[in-house]
Amino acid sequence: MTPLEFDANHLWHPYTNVAKPGPMHLITEAEGVWLTRDDGTRMIDAMSSWWCTIHGHRNSVITEAVKQQIDQMPHVMFGGLTHNPAIELGKKMIDLLPDGLDRIFYCDSGSVSVEVAMKMAVQYQIAQGHTGKVEFATISGGYHGDTWKAMSVCDPVNGMHGLFRGALSIQHFLPRPHVRLNDEWPQDSQVNGLAALEQLLAEKGDQIAALILEPIVQGAGGMYFYHPAWLKGAKALCEAHNVLLIFDEIATGFGRTGSLFAMDLAEVTPDIVCLGKALTGGHISFAATVTSKAVAHGIGESEAGVFMHGPTYMANPLACAAGIASLSLLEDGQWQGRVAQIQTQMQTELEPARGLPGVADVRVLGAIGVIEMHDWVDPSVAHQLAPETGVWLRPFARNIYCMPPFVISPDELSRVTSAMVSLAGLRS
Ligand SMILES: *Cc1c(COP(=O)(O)O)cnc(C)c1O
Repeated sequence: MTPLEFDANHLWHPYTNVAKPGPMHLITEAEGVWLTRDDGTRMIDAMSSWWCTIHGHRNSVITEAVKQQIDQMPHVMFGGLTHNPAIELGKKMIDLLPDGLDRIFYCDSGSVSVEVAMKMAVQYQIAQGHTGKVEFATISGGYHGDTWKAMSVCDPVNGMHGLFRGALSIQHFLPRPHVRLNDEWPQDSQVNGLAALEQLLAEKGDQIAALILEPIVQGAGGMYFYHPAWLKGAKALCEAHNVLLIFDEIATGFGRTGSLFAMDLAEVTPDIVCLGKALTGGHISFAATVTSKAVAHGIGESEAGVFMHGPTYMANPLACAAGIASLSLLEDGQWQGRVAQIQTQMQTELEPARGLPGVADVRVLGAIGVIEMHDWVDPSVAHQLAPETGVWLRPFARNIYCMPPFVISPDELSRVTSAMVSLAGLRS
C-alpha cells in the first residue's frame, strides 16, 4: 500500500466522506510561503494553512523557541502549577489587546475557546442572579467552530452544521448586518439593521446571556465584510439589556484585516474575546478566551465559586512558546506595512475578475482577497490545478479566496491573484 493509499483507506480529513476519498496532495516540507509535495512539486500556500501561518511556515524564530522549550519542559499540568511561558505569553497578549481585556483562559483550539466564552457568559449571568439568561443571540452567516455549543451559533441554513439542527440548542438569529464595510452608515436603526437587535433584546433580553459574533469579517460563513458601526450600536444595546458581547476574533486576530484586531477597527471592546488560529503563527494548535476583570470576578461570585472548565493540556508550554515567538514577530509593527501592501496589490490584481461572467463580487480587506461567484465553486478543480499553477487554493461555497502569509513577496502574490482570476474565468 502506498502512503496515499493508506491515507485514502484509513485517515479522515476535514469535512470528507471516508468511503469516497477525494484527491490528495502528499506534503513533505513547508517553508515560508511554500509547500513541497513528495514528488518535489512546489506550491504557494495561499490559504496560510487555514489562515494561521502569518509569518510563513517553519519560521525560525518560532521553531527555535519551541525547540528550546521542548528540551526544558514539554508539558506540565496547569492545575496548581504554573510556568514562565504561560506568564510571558499572557503579558504579551495583554499588551496587544484593548484596555480592559486582561483575564486569560488558555484553550486547545478555537472551537474550545468559543465553548469557554459561552460557558463564561452563562456562569456570569447566573452568578448575577439572572438565572433565566442562558440563551445566545448571534447574526446569520457566522461560523464559530465544530463543537456542539459553537455549532449552535453557526449559520443555521448555510453553515456547515444545518444537518444537526434538531440536536442543537435553539439560539436567536438576527439578519446579517447588511450595510457593507465601505458603504455609508445610515443613522436610522430601521435602515441600518440595528432595529432587529433592539426588538430581540426588548422581547427576549431576559433569556439572553450574550451576543456572539465575528466582528467585521465573517470568515467560513462566506467571507463577508460588514460595517463596524453595527458593532458600536450592538454594544450599546447589549449594555442596556445586561447582555454580554462576545467577539470571535479567531480568524481576524493578529493583523489579518490590516488592524491588529477587527475590534480595533470598530473601536468597540467586547466583554469576552476568542483568539486562536494565528496565535502561534500556525505552528501548533492553541487558543485563548480573554475577558474583563468585571466578568471574571463576577463568575467567581457564582454558587460554584469557580469557573467550570480546565483542559488537560491547558497552557501547554510548547504552544505558549510558539505564541510568545509569534507575537514577538508582530512587535516591530512591520506586518502593518506588509498587510497594507498586500491589500493594495490584491485590489489592483483581483479587480479584472469583476468583469468576468459568473463573478458576483470582488472584495479585499487587509490580507484577505475574495472573488465571490454566483454559483458554487467545486474545490476539486483548484486542487487539481495547484501543482500546475504552483498555487494552493481551497475555495469554499461560492468563494475563491486567499489569505496569504504576510511574508509573501509581490511576485509570489501575483501568482496567487492570477491563479484566482483564472479559476474564476474557468467558470464562464
Ligand atoms: C476556525 C474558526 C473557529 C474554530 O477554530 P478551530 O481551531 O478550528 O476549532 C471558530 N471561529 C472562527 C471565526 C474561525 O475562523
